[in-house]
Amino acid sequence: SNSVTGQNFQSYLESLHRKYQALRDGNVANYIPELAKANPDWFGIAIATVDGQVFSVGDADHLFTIQSISKVFVQGLALEDHGRDYFLTRVGVEPTGDAFNAIVLDEQSKRPYNPMVNAGAIATTSLIKGNGPTERLNRLLEMFRGYIGHDIFVDASTFMSERTTGDRNRAMAYLMRNFGMIDTNLEEALDLYFQQCSVMVSCRDLAVMAATLANRGVNPVTGDRAVAAGYIRDMLSVMYTCGMYNFAGEWSYRVGLPAKSGVSGGIIVVVPNQIGIAVFSPLLDHRANSVRGVKVCEELSERFELHLFDSS
Ligand code: GLN
Repeated sequence: SNSVTGQNFQSYLESLHRKYQALRDGNVANYIPELAKANPDWFGIAIATVDGQVFSVGDADHLFTIQSISKVFVQGLALEDHGRDYFLTRVGVEPTGDAFNAIVLDEQSKRPYNPMVNAGAIATTSLIKGNGPTERLNRLLEMFRGYIGHDIFVDASTFMSERTTGDRNRAMAYLMRNFGMIDTNLEEALDLYFQQCSVMVSCRDLAVMAATLANRGVNPVTGDRAVAAGYIRDMLSVMYTCGMYNFAGEWSYRVGLPAKSGVSGGIIVVVPNQIGIAVFSPLLDHRANSVRGVKVCEELSERFELHLFDSS
């Protein structure tokens, strides 16, 4: 059957999980001790539908730090805070072909290339409104709660290590401040960026977050609006062209869906008006995308003809 619902679908997910559990390629991120501690066996898949059903298999409830997947949702909040036109004066929407942590700005405009690479994400985070760092953090956490549907927290150890080892990100922030692309307190903006990366989520949470994007910004489990419907297009286009870093082109070709990965091993995928997919497996390839995650998404896209340009 071609439908993503019901008992058959659950057993299909279980066989998919069994198949790729055996795959041991890749390495866990090791730039901070908290991520290096990840178990290579951890592997979860979750799928949430726009009518609020959630299917999951494996380590779907295991909590880990969201890392770069946060960038999508913070982009949404920055758009709500400033509107599209102003946002685009600070961050571009062009894929880079470079690694996620490249220290590079657009030659002409001096903007970071897009909100999905670190430089663009830091510029985006610096746009979040609020009276002081605590209010900005609270607004950001409130935004995440809308997508997730329950209380969340920031992992303090990950935040502290991100901050103490974050000189590469700090270098980008200084470069952007030099060009006027960041004009708020630089250390506060970096702290907020490190905090957003350290938000704890499960694979199930990520599937609901992705399904919220699939559902035009309304969380399909709680019924609450998480982001203005008018910015979904912005978020999904940038995910489509830039969400998988320097694998984005090949991903678009092979999977054909907006997605975002993070160094802790998560990937979210949005099938507009249908489902949100999340995979968690910390073994990463050399572009920092989850090896099992990419495989699972390729297979799901193929099996259910989810590629946006499949004829249907
Ligand atoms: N905390 C990481 C960093 O800033 C996030 C990057 C990622 O997930 N790709 O380097």
